[in-house]
Amino acid sequence: MRKSKVSLVVLSLLLAAFAVYASMLVPAADKAREKAKAPEKSPVIDETPEGNWDLVRLDFIHFAKPEKPGKPGGEPKPPSCFGTLGVQWKVLPVAYVVNPTTPDELPEDVLLDTVSASAETWDAATGAELFDDTFLVDYTAECGVQDYENVIAFSDYPDPNVIGVCSIWYTRRGRQIVEFDICLNTKFLWGDGSVNPLVMDVANIVTHELGHSVGMDDIYDDACADVTMYGYSQEGETHKRTLEPPDIAGLQSMYGP
Ligand SMILES: [Zn+2]
Repeated sequence: MRKSKVSLVVLSLLLAAFAVYASMLVPAADKAREKAKAPEKSPVIDETPEGNWDLVRLDFIHFAKPEKPGKPGGEPKPPSCFGTLGVQWKVLPVAYVVNPTTPDELPEDVLLDTVSASAETWDAATGAELFDDTFLVDYTAECGVQDYENVIAFSDYPDPNVIGVCSIWYTRRGRQIVEFDICLNTKFLWGDGSVNPLVMDVANIVTHELGHSVGMDDIYDDACADVTMYGYSQEGETHKRTLEPPDIAGLQSMYGP
C-alpha cells in the first residue's frame, strides 16, 4: 500500500517535470499567440500572405502638458470625457512582462508594486479579470516591438516632451487586441510624485497607458482634465492614479460592470 503511494508520488512528479519541460519547448510568443486565438463564434483572424496575423498597430504618444492644451479644430460639444477605440481583448486575463531596468534611483520592488497596483486599478473597475494577478520580470524585454509579449519598460525617446508611448496591436478583422507595449521615456526622472513633485509619477502614467492597453482612447477636452485618460501630464501629477466615473464608464462599455 505504502509502496504504491510512493510510486504514485514519483509518477506525478515525473509528469509535472515533463509538463514543465514540454512548456519550455513552446516559445513564449507562440504561447501568447495560441492564447490570443479567437474563441469559437468570434470573428476569424486574417493572415498575411506570409502566414502572419494581419495586425494593425496604434501608437498613443503621451506628451507633457503644453502651454495651450486641447485638440485644435475640435467643435465644442458636451464632453462624455471618455472614448473607446473599438478594439478590445477577447481573451482574458492579459499577461504582461515588466522590465524594471531604469536609469533612475527607483527601487525595483517599488516599481514592480506600482505597476501591479496600476493594473489592479483597472481590474477592480470591472467584473472581468482584465490582467493577470502575477507578471513576469524580464530584464531583456523590449517595448515597442511586436512579439506577442505585453511589455512595460523604459526606453530613451529623443523627444523630451514624450513622457510615454503605449502601442497596441489588433487584428484588422475581428478587431481584437493581441498585444500592448508601454515605453516610459528615460528623458524624465521617474518616481513617486506624491513625495517629490519634480518627478514623473510612475503610477500616474502607467495607469493612463494601461487604459490604452485595454482599448481606451485619449481625451483632450480641457473640461475632462481630471480623467485618467486625459492626454497630457506633468511632473508631480498623481490624479491619474485613480479612475474617474468616465474612465470606468468607458471600461465597462467594453468589459461589463
Ligand atoms: Zn494617452
